[in-house]
Amino acid sequence: MSKKKAKKVLDMVEVKDSNNGQGLFAKKKIPKDTVVGRIKGKVVSDEKHDPRYVMELENNLLLVPKAPFRFLNHSCHPNCELFDWEDETPNPKTGVRNLYLGALRKIKPGDELTIDYSWPASVAIPCQCGSKKCRGYIVDKDELHLVSN
Ligand SMILES: [Zn+2]
Repeated sequence: MSKKKAKKVLDMVEVKDSNNGQGLFAKKKIPKDTVVGRIKGKVVSDEKHDPRYVMELENNLLLVPKAPFRFLNHSCHPNCELFDWEDETPNPKTGVRNLYLGALRKIKPGDELTIDYSWPASVAIPCQCGSKKCRGYIVDKDELHLVSN
């Protein structure tokens, strides 16, 4: 069952070169609200992890994502988001629920899949996402005032 699911993810997306190193691209049309896949990876509690390479989980835990989702790039106007299901039973090993990637809008074949990194201001860098709504930095909306004067 899980193998079948993993295969489906790679039917939908592929890792390719992007403007920004490598990125994750749609191989076929992905309708809005599609669950693209579960983010697999290592759950860690070490807060010394660079926030640029981890995803936040519950209980102050962090997820170090594996391929293909570790290649997700940032956009200030992303077409995907990370989410969990509130009624899902937490993973018995880690005590936290799984993290999934979902499509916020329709994604066309060849489009890059992106999420909003929402980094803390302390690690913000200039953003080149090219979106009309670009904030100028890869940073959490609420912390933008801390990096732009
Ligand atoms: Zn941007």
